[in-house]
Amino acid sequence: MGTPFAQKETEPYEDPLDLMEEIDALKVEKGAKILAHFYVDGDIQDIADYTGDSLKLARDAASIEDSTIVFCGVHFMGESAKILSPKKTVLVPDLLAGCSLAESCQAPELKARQDELRAEGRTIVTVAYINTSAAVKSLCDWIVTSGNAQEIIDRIPADQEILFVPDQHLGRYLMEVTGREMILWPGACMVHEIFSLQDLLRAKKNNADSIVIAHPECPQNILEVSDFIGGTEKMRQYVKSVKEPTMFLVATESAMIYPLQKIAPQHTFIPVPGIMESTGETCACNRCPHMALNTLQKVRDCLKNGSPEITWEPYFDQAKGVLERSLLKN
Ligand code: SF4
Repeated sequence: MGTPFAQKETEPYEDPLDLMEEIDALKVEKGAKILAHFYVDGDIQDIADYTGDSLKLARDAASIEDSTIVFCGVHFMGESAKILSPKKTVLVPDLLAGCSLAESCQAPELKARQDELRAEGRTIVTVAYINTSAAVKSLCDWIVTSGNAQEIIDRIPADQEILFVPDQHLGRYLMEVTGREMILWPGACMVHEIFSLQDLLRAKKNNADSIVIAHPECPQNILEVSDFIGGTEKMRQYVKSVKEPTMFLVATESAMIYPLQKIAPQHTFIPVPGIMESTGETCACNRCPHMALNTLQKVRDCLKNGSPEITWEPYFDQAKGVLERSLLKN
């Protein structure tokens, strides 16, 4: 069974500045650090001690010396933090914050597919994108992020077949950049799969000098019309490197606009399809409903109550080896 689809419930209003003050005091009292993914709301990124993509945050979680981590992101990220820091208490604001991509590959189905391929006499190496559950990670040989995938795939011997899970779009893109054939799992992210090519092309036409930046989780038709393709950290570094004020059309989760604006305030960032001033088109489908479950109130409450917590599961032992080898020793 997968994580139930998460809806953002309404919370009673509390002043965000008061909440931030309360959270700062609780962090000191509890000896905790807050980690926030670039896809959570900007106010949570502001109170975080560490922000970043999955790779950076996994490494931060392992290096932090404080006894408690609050991981503002989605469930598989909290699991990875716990696996890499077994002695720490890892809290998450909402246990129901899942991930449609991780849900699309369940451990029993992956095991069945691996058995099927091996029964055909094929030697396979299973490479998993970090957006997978710990149970799936425990069945894999390598874990990659959009930041290190190419480098890890390049080092797998050519006589071994690669089974890549769960993102078919990232897998197809990696086949293109590495020149390596892979067996792809048919998974996808509900946010990145939904961008409208038609809206993007119209936005480009109406903003002739704009630059399209896209996450490699987007389908091929979006990547084909993009000027820059990269994960969230690469996007940040790219927009920072462009000095002239520029309009960027951003094809990824819309909360990403916040860290882009912070690192390169000279530019204008428009989410794809987003709200186009030129045409008035609107769409809110590029907000991840799971990431949106993280709120300041829940961050405060989990610090105060010491829960919800990610607890150790038996399969974490196996996942630990592969995560450390893939993310910490490279
Ligand atoms: S944006 Fe997509 S890949 Fe990222 S957490 Fe949400 S559903 Fe998962």
